[in-house]
Order: sequence, then C-alpha cells, then structure tokens
Amino acid sequence: MSETAATTANPLLEPWQTPHQTPPFTEIAPEHFMPAFEQAFADHTAEVNAITHDPATPDFDNTVTALERSGRLLTKVSAVFYDLVSAHSNPAILEIDKEVSLRMARHWNPIMMNAVLFGRIALLHQNRANLGLTSEQMRLLERTYTRFHRSGAGLSEDAKKRMAEINERLAQLGTSFSHHLLGDEQDWFLELGEDDRAGLPDSFVAAARAAAEERGMAGKAIITLSRSFAETFLKSSARRDLREKVYKAFVARGDNGNANDNNEAIVEILALREESAKLLGYPTYAAYRLEDSMAKTPEAVRGLLERVWKPARARALADRDELQAMIAAEGGNFTLAPWDWRYYAEKLRQAKANFDDAAIKPYLALDHMIEAAFDCATRLFGITFSERKDIPVWHPDVRVWEVKGPDGRHKALFYGDYFARSSKRSGAWMTSLRDQQKLDGEVTPLIINVCNFARGAGGEPSLLSPDDARTLFHEFGHALHGMLSNVLFPSLSGTAVFTDFVELPSQLYEHWQERPEVLQKFARHYQTGEPLPEDLLQRFLAARKFNQGFATVEFVSSALVDLEFHTQSAEASRDVRAFEQAELKKIGMPAEVAMRHRPTQFGHIFTGDHYAAGYYSYMWSEVMDADAFGAFEEAGDIFDPATAKRLHDDIYSTGGSVDPEAAYVAFRGREPEPDALLRRRGLSDVPEAV
Ligand SMILES: [Zn+2]
Repeated sequence: MSETAATTANPLLEPWQTPHQTPPFTEIAPEHFMPAFEQAFADHTAEVNAITHDPATPDFDNTVTALERSGRLLTKVSAVFYDLVSAHSNPAILEIDKEVSLRMARHWNPIMMNAVLFGRIALLHQNRANLGLTSEQMRLLERTYTRFHRSGAGLSEDAKKRMAEINERLAQLGTSFSHHLLGDEQDWFLELGEDDRAGLPDSFVAAARAAAEERGMAGKAIITLSRSFAETFLKSSARRDLREKVYKAFVARGDNGNANDNNEAIVEILALREESAKLLGYPTYAAYRLEDSMAKTPEAVRGLLERVWKPARARALADRDELQAMIAAEGGNFTLAPWDWRYYAEKLRQAKANFDDAAIKPYLALDHMIEAAFDCATRLFGITFSERKDIPVWHPDVRVWEVKGPDGRHKALFYGDYFARSSKRSGAWMTSLRDQQKLDGEVTPLIINVCNFARGAGGEPSLLSPDDARTLFHEFGHALHGMLSNVLFPSLSGTAVFTDFVELPSQLYEHWQERPEVLQKFARHYQTGEPLPEDLLQRFLAARKFNQGFATVEFVSSALVDLEFHTQSAEASRDVRAFEQAELKKIGMPAEVAMRHRPTQFGHIFTGDHYAAGYYSYMWSEVMDADAFGAFEEAGDIFDPATAKRLHDDIYSTGGSVDPEAAYVAFRGREPEPDALLRRRGLSDVPEAV
C-alpha cells in the first residue's frame, strides 16, 4: 500500500455522505478493502463475544436480535467488494479476493461453531413455544438455530477443527474456480474478417465491433465467449467451420488443460463436501444440502427431473430427426453436430413459424424493455421509477433509478449494469449493496441487476434478443423481491429464502414480458417507433414453445449431473470427464446436445455451495411460477389488482419471514399443480419416450 493511501481516510470506514448513503464508488480504491475488512472482522468478533459472554440469562433480544445487529460493517464492506469482484474486477481486486475468501472462512468458522453461543440459541429454540414470539421472530429463531446446527456448532472439538479446515479450503477452491473461468473467458476471442460474417445480423456485427473496441481493437470485429455472443453466433452464422470453433471453445471453458483448468478443483471440492456431510451425520452431501430446502430429499428432486426428462428427451430426438432431414433436403452431406443444432433449429423455426430473432430485435431495444419491466411493476405494485444521475456508480455504464412506493415515499434505489465488458464475469444476476430491514428504523434497499448484453455500436441502441429480454425481466423479478421486501430482520430480507423458492419471483416475472398487452405497448421499432406488427407478434408468441425439447434437455441434464455429483461417492467422480460422460450415457443424452453448463464451467455449483445439489431449483420454482401466473389468467386480467395484492403481500414482500410452502398456498389458495410446467414448455402432449 502506498503511504498516501495509508494516511488518507478510508472511505469504507467513514459514514457515507452520498444521497441515500450509497457507496461512494468513485472514492473507493482496491487498497481500501483489506484494512476495512480487518476492521470489520474485529468489530464483528467483538460484538459476537459480547453476546456469547453476556452474563444475563439468554433471551430472544440479547441473543437472536443481538446477532441480527452484529456485523454491520462486514456486511457493508462485503457488499461493495463482491459487487466489484463480479461486475468490475481488475487484477488487484482478484488478488484481494483470494485473500478475503480465506479470511472470511477463518472469520466465520469460530462464530458458527461457537459452542457457548450455540448453547444460548439451542436453549431458546428448545423453549420457543413459551417465549411469546411473533411469527417473524419465531421464523428467525428457527432459521438461526438451523444455520448454526447445520454449520457444525454441535459437533465434537475434533470434528469442528476438521470442519473449519474443510470450509477454508472450500472457500479457496470456489474462488479459484471462478477466477479460472473468468480467465478462460477473457483470454479467448475470435476475430471476424469480412468473409466470416455470413448469416450474422447487422446488429450482431455492430456488437462485435463494439466488443473489439472495448478490447482496444477499434475497427475490427470480434466475438467473445459471453453466452449471448456465443449462442447468437451459433444460431445465425452460416459458416459451419466457425460455428464448430466457437462451440468447442464455449464448452471447453475451464477444461483446456491450461492454468485455468478446473478439473482438479472439482475433484477436491466434491471430496471435501462429502467429508463435511458425513461429519454432520448425513449419508451424502445432497442429503445434507436438500434437508434445508422445499424439496427436502434427493429422491424428490430426482422425481421431478425424471418426470420432465422423458418428454423433453423424446421431443429433442424428434426435433433432431427433423433437423437432419432439413440438412439432407439442402443437400448437406453431414450428420447434425452440436454446433449445428441452434443454426438449423433457427432455420426450421423460420420455415415453420416464419419467424426469426433478427426480425424482432429492432423492436426489443434495451431502453424500451427496461421501460416495460418498470411499467409492469407500476401496474402490479404501484411503485414508480425515476432516473437519478447523482448516485455514484462503479462504472460509467451503470444507471440508477429511484423507486417510490404507492404512497410516494422513497422505497429503494435500483442499479442497472447491462453491457458486457471484460471486467465482468459472464451471466446475469441480481445482488444488493444494502438489504431492506427495519430493526432500528427503516433501512431502504440498494438493489443491483447485472447483465451481459451486447452494446449497440456507434451510438445505436442495444437491441436485445428474445432470450435477452426474458433475462432482463427475470433479473428484474429478483430485484423486485429485494425492493418490495418488508421484513423486520436483516437476515430474512428479500431473497434470503430457500434456493428452490428464490427463482419463483424471477421466473414468474418473465410471464409478463411475453404477453401481447405488454409487447404491443413497449416493443416499438427503435428507428421508426412503429409498434410490433400484429402478425410478427403472433409468430413470436407461437415460436416461444419452439425448441423446448432442446432447452429442457440442456437444463435437466445439468441438474441431474449436479445431483449425481453430490449423491454418489466422491470417489466415483475422480475423473470428472469420464463421470460426466457416464452419467449422460445413463440418461440417454442426445449426442447433439450439450449440458447447459459442463462441469468445469458450472459456476452455479462449484464457485460456492449456493446451488450445489441445487441446480434443479430453477425447475422446482418453475412448477410454482407456471402455476402462479394461472391466478392472473383465471382472474381475466394479467394486472388484476386483487391478485397482484396477494402476490405482493404473500410472495414479493415476505422474504424469508414465512415458510415458503405456506407463502405459496396463501397466495394461490392451494398447492401448485405440476403439469402447468409441462404445458408451459409445450411438452405435455409428447408421446411416450423412445
Ligand atoms: Zn434467477
């Protein structure tokens, strides 16, 4: 650290004088983080020690509520840091990340395994019926007890020592897994010469030029390995040789035998997870992980996935034959390969539904879709949005809106960071800089959406694909879950719910994006302002169910492999590639389709444990979202006020303060009906599996 940095004040440790006390990003430099983390760890440890050794008899307030109040500085510094790690990193930040992840594990281990503290919590938990708690307090006590219990707070000292070592090592491995993936994505690009652009829409070429410019190659055009780039290229490039190149690079991320290879990390992660589950008394990591979810058991997860797998696979195989016939009809003398699927599927869709993505993109300008997402929220929940230019951001592309409640009072700030850049990891996500809570007065949330859309070149607006538009609504649905949160305790705020429930608010929100009422109003041509022509709209809606066999196979195969990684002995997956192939063979994976995330790039399950044995969660939530939107259809109005009020009160505002099953039943009046999912994907009428 330079001398000046050491002697000037650290903005992470000062009160923030910005509007709404947002992080002063322009003043924060990498060298501020380590000293701020040190201070935050020390403060938190002192706070927890005071709770642990409080001479007063344990009660809800001096133990559970006191824990909720602890660690504020750590929460604050972490939120800023991890936003930068994911959305705008640099070598200095990534270097600090390595250190922080280990320090974080070392900080949390003694807290979560503190026997005296756990004794206080366990005593309260035992007497919970007699404490006169409100329902939210009861929920918090149960969640707190469960969290400590599942972290190993009740284990022997020897077992705890080993758990601590395992957690530290897992933290390191998860961080290096994500750094490797980012490394492989940053290193690769393909320059597109004039002859390499056959079939590519103008908007794609413009985005490829913008990507080149961003990498200091102005005047050229390149494609990178971001998902929206790679998938659009595979869908539209007429150059079979280049499609093969892009496809192979995309599925090989993390599996190239270079310094970024993730195979060894996977083997070690799986072994450590298995060992920790056994220390805690579970037969497998999946059994451990799923106990604290809506699904509850690996069997329940497998049951759902297999039910969907059969019709999805049958549909994909039938589609494959149709694509092969199309190749033959064109005089192509080759067998359909994985890099051909999207291209011919798109051709078939154009032939069948007379529709292609390129035709609709001019109607899906990013700004119009943001406006649409906001407008639906206004109509459903009465909240309004106005852009603010005075809020500090981490990159000039980031935009900020103030969100006001139906009563006109400040409710939240919403940050949108939409464009791909090399300092950003791939994917799209929602996160927060501050969560809603009102333990000591109202704290309003600061919610972030990050996407990787291709930027429009030369001042042209960014034009979204239908998938991008859906992603925008998806992430905005998560954002609403954070912004509409109305709970007392910080650890129950917004998206702090079971992983297999958390995709309900996001996936449900996607339904509005594909409704004619919404598209007619907001899908306007970016140059002429003309609304989406009726016949194009109808063809777009009809095309939504197209290629669902492929999409479902991509997803379910990934979810099943995730489940197998965590139910079989870790010994079985010592050769990750062989394990992957064997599992895919077992389920009869069509050779022409790849997993949506091959193991070495499966950040969901290997960069942390959040989605480990939990990738199925999207589909579990989809059972609910497909069924939930039916409530609006039955009401005859997709903005029906009474239904929207229930949706707000029971789902979007309750965070983790109620049991998710009870929350769903309160909203819908009954359990979800699972066939809605197959109908939504157009898979309910598929003949029995081949
Ligand atoms: Zn999501």
